[in-house]
Amino acid sequence: CGIVGYVGPSADGKALDVVLEGLARLEYRGYDSAGVALVDGDAVATQKKAGKLANLRGALEEQPLPASGTGIGHTRWATHGGPTDANAHPHRGGTDGKLALIHNGIIENFHALKSELLEAGVEFTSETDTEVVAQLLAQAYDGDLTAAMREVVARLEGAFTLLAVHADQPDVVVGARRNSPLVVGLGEGENFLGSDVAAFIGYTRNAMELEQDQIVTITPEGATVINFDGTPAEGKAFEVTWDAAA
Ligand code: GLU
Repeated sequence: CGIVGYVGPSADGKALDVVLEGLARLEYRGYDSAGVALVDGDAVATQKKAGKLANLRGALEEQPLPASGTGIGHTRWATHGGPTDANAHPHRGGTDGKLALIHNGIIENFHALKSELLEAGVEFTSETDTEVVAQLLAQAYDGDLTAAMREVVARLEGAFTLLAVHADQPDVVVGARRNSPLVVGLGEGENFLGSDVAAFIGYTRNAMELEQDQIVTITPEGATVINFDGTPAEGKAFEVTWDAAA
């Protein structure tokens, strides 16, 4: 339902604050669960809770996550699997604790993909369509998260905005979209992704719109866009003009 991604200097360690603030600004969309994932050394740390953001904040107070420069956050509106902690996003892929993914939308062909993964021995921890994508991404990952995302979106049908992080590429967030919105926020030495500009309005007014079937890779230095077929693309730059307080 709501999506936030952030990458900035790891020394500043502000990913969690930025992501939580973005999620709070996206609350107006409605949701039933919320969660975050932060790159933490050679792993990705996550926390997720059914219910309001206050529940997530409570869990984060009890079990604080480490300061990080790279993170993603999600508010979920359940379509596949009830609104439980386990079904909340982010979802992990693989078994090494390095990859996490969030998703807006519906993967129409997730049954077929899930059967294939189950047959290959992959174990699932949720009932969501989303976890299938996380597992596929972990299988496709070979040192380049953007390339892995390209490989995986080619297999997906339906509507999706996807964001992923991988601990082996600690200053990268990769996003992809089809039939579901994704905007980029361009900062100074830090960059943002959001399901809408509310996700990063507190930080920058410089934004970039993605077109259908595109993948964006953000680092602290910039944002690179390609089409699902791998050809380079240009996002459409625009300035956010509406009042953040509205
Ligand atoms: N289909 C996914 C789920 O049920 C994502 C729902 C959403 O857009 O929040 O977990």
